Amino acid sequence: MKSLVEYIKSIFKGLWTLLIGLKITLKEFFTPKITQCYPENRETLKIADRFRATLVMVHDENGKNKCTACGLCSINCPNQTIKITSHMEETEDGKKKKVLDAYLYDIGSCTFCQLCVEGCPTKAIEFTNDFEQAVFTRSKLVKQLNKK
Ligand code: SF4
Ligand code: SF4
Repeated sequence: MKSLVEYIKSIFKGLWTLLIGLKITLKEFFTPKITQCYPENRETLKIADRFRATLVMVHDENGKNKCTACGLCSINCPNQTIKITSHMEETEDGKKKKVLDAYLYDIGSCTFCQLCVEGCPTKAIEFTNDFEQAVFTRSKLVKQLNKK
């Protein structure tokens, strides 16, 4: 008897979850549709701030970045999208430190997962919503993100 009650309960529970799903479907069905006339509306087009279009390196007004060439972003990247070259320099107090030469980012293999940004200890990199990244040759998809 108990199992029959459980069985009937599970049917009603299933119907209830189906109705919840249908509620969303119905809401979207009656929501007015918008057609974006891109690229004519380029000036007024609103892209969500959180949209991840491309990775950039943050530079200050003097063109300096905060990258320490530690390589954590590159290690975190699941598909080797980031290549970093660096050299060692001696500081005034006699210590050695890594200095970034080139920070290469291949947008063609990026999955926009943001693991690189999350793992950066100095917040040197971030994603922007600048979505117009189409180019005619594959080689142009590889960009050097550091200015110096
Ligand atoms: S961007 Fe951040 S994580 Fe990547 S090498 Fe530079 S400092 Fe390290
Ligand atoms: S967003 Fe993901 S795939 Fe793209 S460079 Fe960063 S870690 Fe790699």
